[in-house]
Amino acid sequence: MLLKPFSVDIYFNYKCECGAIYQASRKQTVWPGGVLCDCCGKKVQYEPIQKVQVIPQYGQKSGQKFFPKPFIDHQELVDSLVNLGYNKVEATKKVTKIVTDNPSWSDEEILKEVFKK
Ligand SMILES: [Zn+2]
Repeated sequence: MLLKPFSVDIYFNYKCECGAIYQASRKQTVWPGGVLCDCCGKKVQYEPIQKVQVIPQYGQKSGQKFFPKPFIDHQELVDSLVNLGYNKVEATKKVTKIVTDNPSWSDEEILKEVFKK
């Protein structure tokens, strides 16, 4: 069984003017308050990143055409469900199940299923 990833976690690297280096997830970049630099104590803020698309480039098998398809940010789907009143565990389970049960689905089909009543 050949597995392909169903989601991806990305961390962004930041450098304070004092030289200290930080990593933040996309979610952390939208924290409005910023963080204190451990090194110089200054308050630093990340420019908010709303969306990232990652396009995997798999090794090509002979005769197979390559269709790049960005991943949807599944964390965003989970967050949307939580906003609709799901608890986080349920929402994560639901999104993970739909995505892993239907690996060939388009983003649109996944979205439809996730928000189906
Ligand atoms: Zn600093």
